[in-house]
Amino acid sequence: MKYRSTRGSTRTMSSAEAIITGIAEDGGLFVPDNLPKIDGVFIEGLVDLTYQERAEKILQKFLTDYTEPELRGCIGYAYGEEKFGDAAVAPVVHLGNAHVLELWHGPTSAFKDMALQLLPQLMSTALAKTGEQKEIMILVATSGDTGKAALEGFKDVDQIRIMVFYPEAGVSNIQRLQMVTQRGGNVEVIAVKGNFDDAQTGVKQIFNDEALNALLNESGVQLSSANSINWGRLVPQIVYYFSAYADLIKEKVIKSKDLVNFTVPTGNFGNILAGYYAKQMGLPIQRLICASNVNNVLTDFLKTGRYDRKRAFYKTCTPSMDILISSNLERLLYHITDGNTAKIKGWMNELNALGEYEVGEDTLNKIQETFWSGWANDEKTLEKIREVYEKYHYVVDTHTAVAWQVAESYQKETGDQTVNVIVSTASPYKFSDSVLTALGTEISSVADQFAKLSLLEQLSDVKIPGGLASLEDALVLHHKNCEKADMPEMVKMMGQPSL
Ligand SMILES: *Cc1c(COP(=O)(O)O)cnc(C)c1O
Repeated sequence: MKYRSTRGSTRTMSSAEAIITGIAEDGGLFVPDNLPKIDGVFIEGLVDLTYQERAEKILQKFLTDYTEPELRGCIGYAYGEEKFGDAAVAPVVHLGNAHVLELWHGPTSAFKDMALQLLPQLMSTALAKTGEQKEIMILVATSGDTGKAALEGFKDVDQIRIMVFYPEAGVSNIQRLQMVTQRGGNVEVIAVKGNFDDAQTGVKQIFNDEALNALLNESGVQLSSANSINWGRLVPQIVYYFSAYADLIKEKVIKSKDLVNFTVPTGNFGNILAGYYAKQMGLPIQRLICASNVNNVLTDFLKTGRYDRKRAFYKTCTPSMDILISSNLERLLYHITDGNTAKIKGWMNELNALGEYEVGEDTLNKIQETFWSGWANDEKTLEKIREVYEKYHYVVDTHTAVAWQVAESYQKETGDQTVNVIVSTASPYKFSDSVLTALGTEISSVADQFAKLSLLEQLSDVKIPGGLASLEDALVLHHKNCEKADMPEMVKMMGQPSL
């Protein structure tokens, strides 16, 4: 299988090359040039397999240039027992009519681990396969969860360095602590004065800065990305849609070939796009429901076809969804328009220059065949956490609560009774302040962050994840911060051969 750019560059690459490169030379994203198709027999064949085995079956369809032992090695390492707190890796939990796909049993307690445990393995295998001698420098812009998950995945991986930029005031306490205490000889963590979009735009500009890239090349360094613009971030996420479906068959919630819906708390559109790939491959998904917070640029787009980022940016209790530019939408538009790269390029240029673009009616209709969208404000989100807790004695994080709320709006508005899977993207411990507030605790009265975790442990009967409990004694190792304009300078400094 070959990969090409969404913006029309005719150069194609193997998956290993696309994963090393990250973003296409014309600024587009890599997409597979055809989608593998599966049938009911394939899906039934997944039912009795482990998560790792399911992953191998699906990934080998996309990463055709990796050998079987290579893939198996990468997958075994990424989803091994030392990494994931639940042997099922991505279990589906059933609570009444609600089915919750828990994607947060990895080392950093957010769904980003699903991809970021595997990506470093795929990348270092790719370096060996292609004989690439350069050192890879991974640049990450994070709204909180990606940064830590990427640091954890890439720390001390040979031939790779990683630099993470996070918005100084845009992440939760726990998220910040997780990042600034990161160990590893090849890591750098920097706070940017601005919001997530500032950090993300800054990183994109660095990728497109020819002079800077040339300079780094001279010192034997090549930039790459661990954000969900990297194909190696997206492809591992396709697996859990299949895995959840197989589990629903196994637990007799559905029969083989029954349609299901997934509701996905969405920011950069990477998670839900993986669901779209699964559907295009033949997984019986009827609807993908895109759940947003008050930064509801996607809700508007999916309802009207007009993408307009010129709006106020709000900080919410769901920081991983505080995003106004959802990069992976570009991939959806590519597939929906049957690869009309001229159109994609035009829209992306308009977004860049004017802050908006509008797709035509045909494109919108095609999108709406699969996607539905809604949003929830902070008040509704916290209410939902409390309601779910009272009903099921089950604690969800804020992002999952947004999805829960939107899934119910969808069912109410459409009357659709199809089995729905709520995609749960973070452990409630990661957002303990908001979660405790929702459950009625006056958090200012709780001594510190770790007392809060203990309190949540008592309320939820779920053990504090090891990675979070250990933060209490961890040393702060990273103190740097910078203005958005100084980000290239930071990269230049880390790109020195002496480091
Ligand atoms: C990253 C993240 C999201 C958004 O996922 P996208 O793939 O960017 O749409 C939602 N919830 C949590 C907890 C996240 O970390």
